[in-house]
Amino acid sequence: MTIRIEDSNASTPEMRAAPRNLWTAMLRGAKHRCPNCGSGQMYERYLKVADRCGTCSEELHHHRADDAPPYFTIFIAGHLIVGGVLAVEQAFHPEPWIQASLWLPLTLVLCLLLLPRIKGTLVGLQWALRMHGFGDPADDGHALTGDGPGQVVPPAVASHGVRQAPSNLS
Ligand SMILES: [Zn+2]
Repeated sequence: MTIRIEDSNASTPEMRAAPRNLWTAMLRGAKHRCPNCGSGQMYERYLKVADRCGTCSEELHHHRADDAPPYFTIFIAGHLIVGGVLAVEQAFHPEPWIQASLWLPLTLVLCLLLLPRIKGTLVGLQWALRMHGFGDPADDGHALTGDGPGQVVPPAVASHGVRQAPSNLS
């Protein structure tokens, strides 16, 4: 499936014309790879997304995964673990300590494995849909002009269009 987003703010015709495949980008993200080239690493640490791809220099810092990765991790791991606990309980009626010693470590490992994959998938989705400045460098300007959704910009910044450091920090 190819998602083509018409973006009147794109700065070059190439940027407007370049389609981004949603499923390819999400799959690359799930593999901890850059959604653009598929070969560069998405993470510089366990859950720290690199500012830019080391291979193709695609900027990745625009992502806003926020708390969606933990939400989906808990949702998926919870259904798998609770289903397993109930199935084992029904089949074998083990002692509670056996259940706990089996499922607690498994829950921890499953969550640690799922979390970066789900986060990578969501970063790939945001990149493919050109969300949060992934599509156009001019999108970054929304934060400065206050015309982006949900942006709260101090009046001094909004009127001048330039962020100014507070004088007491210098
Ligand atoms: Zn790349």
